[in-house]
Amino acid sequence: MFIWDFSALFALVLILCVGLVLTWWIVYNLNRDKQGGEDRIIEYFRQCHYCGYVYLDYFQNSPCRCPRCMSYHD
Ligand SMILES: [Zn+2]
Repeated sequence: MFIWDFSALFALVLILCVGLVLTWWIVYNLNRDKQGGEDRIIEYFRQCHYCGYVYLDYFQNSPCRCPRCMSYHD
């Protein structure tokens, strides 16, 4: 017969917590793959036409400004 002592309860709680975190991680990764995940971040990449600096433009303003040389370009 199984005896429920402190170590058995601790092991059970630990296994449940690890299972919960693993389940959350799997669901998070499945949802991220459905939404395009890393494909969406490519839209934000911009390269300055004057100095060649590559940066992320999350606001996507039409005349955006290079953070390095401060020049405007499309
Ligand atoms: Zn620049």
